Amino acid sequence: MSFGNKTLKRGSSGDDVIELQLRLAGFRGTVWDGSFGPGTELQVMTFQRDYMGEENPDGIIGPKSVAALEKFADEHPIDFDKLKCSCGECDGFGNGQYKDEYREDYPMIERYYKYEYPGIHKAILNAYRSAQFYAKKEGFPAPIVTCGYRCWINNRKKGRTSTNHMGKAIDIDFPLQSGDDKRDDCERCDSFRGKLVELSNFQIGWHANNHKSLEPSTIAPSWIHMDVRCYSRKYLDEKYFVKSLADNL
Ligand SMILES: [Zn+2]
Repeated sequence: MSFGNKTLKRGSSGDDVIELQLRLAGFRGTVWDGSFGPGTELQVMTFQRDYMGEENPDGIIGPKSVAALEKFADEHPIDFDKLKCSCGECDGFGNGQYKDEYREDYPMIERYYKYEYPGIHKAILNAYRSAQFYAKKEGFPAPIVTCGYRCWINNRKKGRTSTNHMGKAIDIDFPLQSGDDKRDDCERCDSFRGKLVELSNFQIGWHANNHKSLEPSTIAPSWIHMDVRCYSRKYLDEKYFVKSLADNL
């Protein structure tokens, strides 16, 4: 993490603030624009209250909160082997194909952008960390990644055209519990989707721009799909996509 000894608070700006906004993408969450306004302050206060157990969070990032952010990341690991594409031909995160190319008739609509982004977006990975944290806090089993990256080779093998999993999405799920049937699994996913809306500021579906999305249960009944498809291009810059923990995640 790049915060050093700096204090970050309302009015701060720059790359450290972007890093902070991405780190806290699952604590309410706001856009990662590098400007520490009320949305970022709410993120910090939510983290201080929910994770650090502060009764009177001050919304200011100093040494104690930086240490807590590091501890939080360590306690909620990301296993990149589980996120890699299973095609067996790409490096695990596509081949960087189709930059600036969209499916015909849909120019500049992210849903139809064909690009294989170079890794998985930090906001989604950090939101998954928060999902691990809130699942435990709210009495759910530990969620696991069931689908990460899927490149075009993978898509073609399976007859898919969706580009969501080319860096902008992951699927998570709860392992089946003893005595569960399919309906229990779906109900648990539905219930947790509600928690992610309430606690992490996800939307169900893709109505609002610049907002994290969950697929509705009509599409993803027995798992949870989270993505950043609704963000404008500046929030989907290549620098936000990572392939390992070493990429400042
Ligand atoms: Zn692949």
